Amino acid sequence: MRGVGFPLEHWRRVAYRVTLIPGDGVGPELISAARRAIEATGIPIEWDVQEAGSQVAEREGSPLPERVLDSIRTNRVALKGPVTTPVGTGMRSVNVALRVALELYAAVRPCRWYPGVRSRYEGVDVTIVRETTENSYTGIEFEYDAPETAELIAFIHRTTGKRVREDSGLSIKSISEGASERIARFAFDHARTHGRRKVTAGHKANIMKFSDGLFLETARRVAAENPDVAFEDRIIDNLTMQLVQRPEDYDVLVLPNLYGDILSDLCAGLVGGLGLAPGANFGDRIAVFEATHGSAPRYRGTDRANPMALMLSGAMMLRHLGEVEAGDRLEAAVAGVIAEGRTVTYDLKPARDDPGAAGTSAVADAVVARLATEPAR
Ligand code: NAD
Repeated sequence: MRGVGFPLEHWRRVAYRVTLIPGDGVGPELISAARRAIEATGIPIEWDVQEAGSQVAEREGSPLPERVLDSIRTNRVALKGPVTTPVGTGMRSVNVALRVALELYAAVRPCRWYPGVRSRYEGVDVTIVRETTENSYTGIEFEYDAPETAELIAFIHRTTGKRVREDSGLSIKSISEGASERIARFAFDHARTHGRRKVTAGHKANIMKFSDGLFLETARRVAAENPDVAFEDRIIDNLTMQLVQRPEDYDVLVLPNLYGDILSDLCAGLVGGLGLAPGANFGDRIAVFEATHGSAPRYRGTDRANPMALMLSGAMMLRHLGEVEAGDRLEAAVAGVIAEGRTVTYDLKPARDDPGAAGTSAVADAVVARLATEPAR
């Protein structure tokens, strides 16, 4: 799309086409704020708006209709608001379904502390690279008291001599060499292209020798092929404690799915909370950018939620599109509004009911105003 050597005036007029999924809960208001901030960088984007979620399911029979997937497959880049997964309805998570359908196997969550954020820690800058296709998230489960559960328990006893209690439910955790190699390579490539110095693999290989053990063994093999980036491994419980004690010792973390899920929120907590934690899901050809947080339903329509995580996801998206300078400007504008401390949402205030907390749209106004004072170069 952007041939090298194109005259600037020509390619500036060609818009990037990006799929935009507003989501539900606080999603639509946050997406609208993030969209304004991204557009204020001056990068032309043609948004292909695609609704998804439970209301869409009522109208179209599926919360994630094929048209949404087709749009993302065509555009190869999407910005997504959070989507609620109703509990107890049997509706599958749109977020998991999207990752599976598009083979988005790597979730990247940068956790960076910005001056002005009230946190127990300063200077944290950790990026989580989480495997997202397997582990305990495959949905292969055996229900308590079901005949196939009894069969599996009997099979386990026959083949291993070990007894699982008969009144158990079972969830299968699987880790493959192929997916482990793919995520380890992704982590090293990410570290190299983002100027990072070290990759740390988290695991519980001392206990789960055939699943986490395979993950660790594969990560070590890939590390040996990437000697320019330092590598170490940590048992996950020890890593969790060390992140709380000395987060500055860590740089890029490569983690199997479940540990990656949990440490994403832990690291978001280290740098000021979910309102500031951006993210992206990558496959080989497709990237979907979204915040780590969910749809925070109780804040829906209240203009209270923090749009910064989604704006920072937008900055990651601009860099992915090759618009590195615009991405850096957007991140700097968000950081500037945080540092100034006047126009920030409740979650960045000392008290949750702080009367001086700004609304979602006021934060968007402040970020857009900052970008306007530093126009595109
Ligand atoms: P959540 O992240 O939506 O909210 C947890 C709490 O974090 C909120 O009550 C709020 O206090 C705070 N919070 C979250 N985002 C915030 C923001 N932008 N600004 C200020 N505060 C914010 O997590 P949950 O309550 O566990 O999940 C709610 C729904 O979201 C569920 O249906 C869940 O399945 C879904 N979910 C979706 C995604 C996604 O779309 N990728 C991710 C996680 C959860």
